[in-house]
Amino acid sequence: MNLDQPIAGSAPAPRRSLQARIRWGEHVVTVGGDAPVRVQAMTNTDTVDVIGTAIQVKELAQAGSELVRLTVNTPEAAAAVPHIREQLDRMGIAVPLIGDFHYNGHRLLTEHPACAEALSKYRINPGNVGKGAKRDRQFAQMVETAVKLDKAVRIGVNWGSLDQELLADLMDTNSRRQQPWDAKQVMYQALVQSALESAAQAVDIGLPAQQVLISCKVSGVQDLIAVYRALAARCDYPLHLGLTEAGMGTKGTVASTAALAVLLQEGIGDTIRVSLTPQPGEARTQEVVVASEILQSLGLRSFNPSVTACPGCGRTTSEGFQELAKQIDDFLRAQMPVWRDQYPGVETMKVAVMGCIVNGPGESRHADIGISLPGTGEAPAAPVYIDGEKAMTLRGEGIAREFQQIVQQYIERRFAAA
Ligand code: SF4
Repeated sequence: MNLDQPIAGSAPAPRRSLQARIRWGEHVVTVGGDAPVRVQAMTNTDTVDVIGTAIQVKELAQAGSELVRLTVNTPEAAAAVPHIREQLDRMGIAVPLIGDFHYNGHRLLTEHPACAEALSKYRINPGNVGKGAKRDRQFAQMVETAVKLDKAVRIGVNWGSLDQELLADLMDTNSRRQQPWDAKQVMYQALVQSALESAAQAVDIGLPAQQVLISCKVSGVQDLIAVYRALAARCDYPLHLGLTEAGMGTKGTVASTAALAVLLQEGIGDTIRVSLTPQPGEARTQEVVVASEILQSLGLRSFNPSVTACPGCGRTTSEGFQELAKQIDDFLRAQMPVWRDQYPGVETMKVAVMGCIVNGPGESRHADIGISLPGTGEAPAAPVYIDGEKAMTLRGEGIAREFQQIVQQYIERRFAAA
């Protein structure tokens, strides 16, 4: 066995899609090409509630969502959209809004021109545009509006609302094969074909290819990986990635992370959404937190300073370090909307909060700033490490407060804009 060999680093594969420009006024969010993978979210307020929706969009944007999608399902919702946009503009929130249309999007976009103008991108589900001859006419009506107003379009296929005529055709074709594919393979084909044929149709109507984004959402991790690998191999449209109906809490978070991490590591995915069902009382912004953490954990982007904390074990029976880790994490997140402009680069900072001497000093030295709390049987002292060097030792009841102040001072010193 030869141990004297360098070990290659691991990094996401280079990406290769076209680049869409999604704009509101002077504010442009690029998606695909050399742009960073973007975070998206969707509101769950009634769009007719202008103030409630504008507040939630603001919260999602401040949490880090770079594009926010709204349901536009009725004439009243379409009429509310320009007022939501105005409210956001008044609050200084330039985040582009995406309209989510099903069944009646052609009518809403035509009959509510102010809504069509206030949105920056339209999501069209090819399975919910209409049937037979009406389908092409209604699809064209929406795309023509996008062309006229210079808006991007996402062709958003979902296996819960797949184009049934296309699926039936593919099933028929499959039954005539000498060796029919299994039903899942026909479903994958239907998802990919629905997306790519609709995208081609949009380009034929006059939408620039780079302004067409595609998604094919399914709720199974392995299904999502299979479908997006096929999509990525067959087109260069920017891809919006997400596990649909991911579920609640730990299940939704883990399933989304498992699926998205595999694809992002392969360079697949230009924008992501984590479709979490909020738990009772949970903020809608949790889906943005999870999406940002996925990108940050993969080393694709930095959104917030990261807190490294040990899990604790029998060497520390105190909950002090858990509380301190949570306090520091909450403190850093709460300050980020202000710090983002005030302290450029702070999002790359690493903080360690460790439970005892075993890994505490080592991990704290690897961080920008770290603290090693005393484990059971250790002297009641907490050494603090700054830029790899032991800087001081904290003692007594006020360790949490003092450490928070030290972190704040470190940020002011190191990241204050020149
Ligand atoms: S650093 Fe100490 S307390 Fe934390 S997990 Fe390791 S041994 Fe346990």
